[in-house]
Amino acid sequence: MYHAIAADPNEATRELSVTPEAFAAQMEIVGELGHTPITTAQLAASWRSGRPLPERPVLVTFDDGYEGVHRHALPVLAKHGFAATLFVSTGWLRGPHDNGHALDTMLDWPQVRELAAEGVEIGGHSHTHPQLDQLDDDALRRELILCKEIVTDQLGTVPASFAYPYGYSSRRVREKVRETGYAQALAVGNGLARRRQGPYALLRVTVRRGTDAEEFRRLIEGRAIARNFARDRAFTKGYAMVRRARQVRRKAIRSRV
Ligand SMILES: [Zn+2]
Repeated sequence: MYHAIAADPNEATRELSVTPEAFAAQMEIVGELGHTPITTAQLAASWRSGRPLPERPVLVTFDDGYEGVHRHALPVLAKHGFAATLFVSTGWLRGPHDNGHALDTMLDWPQVRELAAEGVEIGGHSHTHPQLDQLDDDALRRELILCKEIVTDQLGTVPASFAYPYGYSSRRVREKVRETGYAQALAVGNGLARRRQGPYALLRVTVRRGTDAEEFRRLIEGRAIARNFARDRAFTKGYAMVRRARQVRRKAIRSRV
């Protein structure tokens, strides 16, 4: 799981961003180790149908929709012929649905369409990136449906995969994601994706700014993940706090006007 690919990210996304050079080096490692990147939809479809997966399958995923995915990641993916999945928070992308709450420079829709045309699967990641398990049923439904409708409208295809913001889900969230029409969804956690996790709770591991080549090798081979996970939990809390602080500041500014 990647977020931003950026040389000079904003403070809020810094820890979870990866430099363009590190991303290129990591994709070299994926190739060297003989892994075959596939999309989220391909993984789930293989598991549903029983059709064999390619040798050493791996998912390369990007959450939120940062502009560097187009600028820096796409040329590297294209060079290797690697598949990937981008999960977009539709209210954060630049363009007609932009709600002004994004943490850094985001993709616009022509860039998302270009990524899709190059074979990147585009999945949903909610509209405003809330903690979905904290929402009531109506708000939850709105987040899921709005995201799906905007992606469908902008791309002409219905998104099939979803990633939970902050990796958070609950049984109720997973059921609503399924009811909305998503066929599979990705979480974040202490392990690699396995069929037994079920299609709505597949795990991912985090690649971050401090992930060096050695740790990256261990992560994609499923070794030493517990240590990575402990930092994930601390970070996810910090990320949520940054967002809350920004919202409080915005409200304070609005109430002064
Ligand atoms: Zn996210």
